[in-house]
Amino acid sequence: DKTLRLILGDQLNCKHSWFETTDHSITYVIMEIRTETDYATHHIQKIAGFFAAMRQFSNFLESKKHQCIYLNINDKDNLQSLEANLSFLIQRDHYTKFEYQLPDEYRVDLILKKFTSQLAIAFKVYDTEHFFSTRDELGKFFEGKKTFLMESFYRAMRKKHQVLMSGDNPMTGQWNYDEENRKKLPKNHKPTAPLVFTNNVSDIMDAIVQTDIKTMGVIDKTNFIWPVNRDQSLELLAYFTAECLPLFGTYQDAMIPDEWSLYHSRLSFSLNTKMIAPAEVIEAAIAAWQKEPERIAYNQLEGFVRQIIGWREYMRGIYWLKMPEYATLNFFNHKEKLPDWYWTGKTKMNCLKDAITQSLTFAYAHHIQRLMITGNFALLAGTDSDEVDAWYLGIYIDALDWVEITNTRGMSQFADGGIVGTKPYVSSAAYIDKMSHYCGTCFYNKAKKTGDRACPFNSLYWNFYDKQEAKLAHNPRIGMMYKVWHKMKPEDKTALLEQADYYLKNINEL
Ligand code: FAD
Ligand code: SF4
Repeated sequence: DKTLRLILGDQLNCKHSWFETTDHSITYVIMEIRTETDYATHHIQKIAGFFAAMRQFSNFLESKKHQCIYLNINDKDNLQSLEANLSFLIQRDHYTKFEYQLPDEYRVDLILKKFTSQLAIAFKVYDTEHFFSTRDELGKFFEGKKTFLMESFYRAMRKKHQVLMSGDNPMTGQWNYDEENRKKLPKNHKPTAPLVFTNNVSDIMDAIVQTDIKTMGVIDKTNFIWPVNRDQSLELLAYFTAECLPLFGTYQDAMIPDEWSLYHSRLSFSLNTKMIAPAEVIEAAIAAWQKEPERIAYNQLEGFVRQIIGWREYMRGIYWLKMPEYATLNFFNHKEKLPDWYWTGKTKMNCLKDAITQSLTFAYAHHIQRLMITGNFALLAGTDSDEVDAWYLGIYIDALDWVEITNTRGMSQFADGGIVGTKPYVSSAAYIDKMSHYCGTCFYNKAKKTGDRACPFNSLYWNFYDKQEAKLAHNPRIGMMYKVWHKMKPEDKTALLEQADYYLKNINEL
């Protein structure tokens, strides 16, 4: 018997039971292929990061005496797609069995299902042994329900996995500590410097240039900052629990120019490639809190645990429940293109300039920058969700369809009409100013709604509510806004709508 086992670029899990024993009848295959580099225009650091981590994983397999075939993107005999390479190898080396792990992306799942349905040899599918929940667990949990409340799923996950619990109750008597979190950074507060690595990815960059792959963003190829293996991922985790967790929740939503990482973990790339597991991430955070409860307050810990065992698992569950329809939803029927400056950062709006420029520089922005700056603006500008999805799927190092699309199309653009969120995340300048230090130095005036240098968010915000009244007025969480809007003087309303119209018509000049 000869078995060929496929390892996808986001299945770099050293701890998987596959690797517990070495067996010379088994060969692993890892491939860099054009179908993966070309399904979106990816950030150069995303491609380099994935390839670097895949190459390191193949080194790990070899160090453990596993047999591994690794196809580089520029190898002559690389046929550049999963199916073509697999068919070729199976025929050439006479494998009698094919095995793979459940992909996280619907697109890849389809490819492999189709491939195995036509396969002449036996095949078997394994779990990735990564997540807390199975693909269909959320669907079963909410069966027969009309709404899918993240908080309910989060609590069920905490109970099931006994995380910070005492029996069926939260160990502190309270589930959620959100109201203690989410503060603006005090002036003169200097956040901890981010831990960055200095990996050399020159060989990968040469191959990317040689093969002419279309990318966006920039890279320092001799100082590549992202973790590319399990050890570096664990180092980043240790740094997070030591330096960032004590203020994680407090400044989770804060934004300040030129500080791109703040107290965030930046573990999403390590997690999404499975170099580390969500269980070990929360175990490390809990252990740090247990050791030094006077240094790490419980609200910081709970806020972090909720992101991992709550939001991350929830988004994955929604994805498998609602795909493939989810990728086509466009509740507001938005049709506009993304403004050109999303690809350059060249806008006078300070908040957007900062969030986009740092995304192009580091392939990273934290959650509130994605949601309340770039996502907020794209929604107020009536952007087609396909366009918005393509941008998010390309630009972030952690972007994989299952977690990108649910966050972007769902949470940020409300294109799902309220499956993951109860109302659209839109705001005027007031919220941005409350959470950030962007407005003070902006070309635009945060306090002005109309006229010269009025902050575009202010008029676009009311314009959005006005245009979407039929779809939103009955939403109990938004009713108040419509009361305010209807009480406004007609001439003020007209001025706001005219201002918004002007900005929308000149969006590339903002
Ligand atoms: P931290 O703030 O340190 O949070 C810790 C971890 O919690 C993250 O690493 C992540 O694994 C998890 N997490 C937190 N929030 C979410 C969430 N909403 N959904 C899923 N997991 C979450 N996350 C991705 O991993 N890939 C994406 O492609 C992606 N696209 C997004 C697009 C938009 C429009 C928005 C609003 C959010 C998106 N997110 C995405 C969620 C979130 O912004 C990132 O997970 C987070 O910013 C990653 O940085 P971090 O590791 O420093 O997170
Ligand atoms: Fe952004 Fe408006 Fe504030 Fe400028 S004034 S930073 S555009 S919210």
